[in-house]
Amino acid sequence: MSDCIFCRIVAGEIPAARVFEDEATIAFMDIGAVNPGHVLVATRAHVANVFDLDDAQAAALMRTVARVSRAVRDAFAPAGINLFQANGRAAGQTVFHFHVHVLPREEGDGMRLDWPVKNPPREELVANAERLRAVLRG
Ligand code: AMP
Ligand code: ZN
Repeated sequence: MSDCIFCRIVAGEIPAARVFEDEATIAFMDIGAVNPGHVLVATRAHVANVFDLDDAQAAALMRTVARVSRAVRDAFAPAGINLFQANGRAAGQTVFHFHVHVLPREEGDGMRLDWPVKNPPREELVANAERLRAVLRG
């Protein structure tokens, strides 16, 4: 038996309020829902984080995220929806099986994500873009 809680949900070993499934993905209600309609979309396979996703899993995951987001919009009519996804403890990840939060939002719902804008100089942005292009070129 896996000690990964989301693998156990995929396998049906522990209950979850399932929303949608296809060959590569599963969507179920977040047990700690911030607002009604808070859904997690996860890979069926055990993939720890974004770095370990293959291209097919990445595409399938985003397709399900968009599909579930439209359903959340239609079913709950929230004022907005955030997509959240954490990789690594420092980023706030607590379940180490890849998943995206589809989180319906309302004005004044108490949800907070501090975004400490630094507005670096343009030369720094250009230098950082070049660092990334070099990696992407391989
Ligand atoms: P994070 O790794 O920070 O994206 O958060 C993991 C999310 O998984 C949290 O929002 C938890 O409420 C949720 N969660 C943990 N265990 C379960 C479970 N058994 N069923 C549904 N959601 C869960
Ligand atoms: Zn897992």
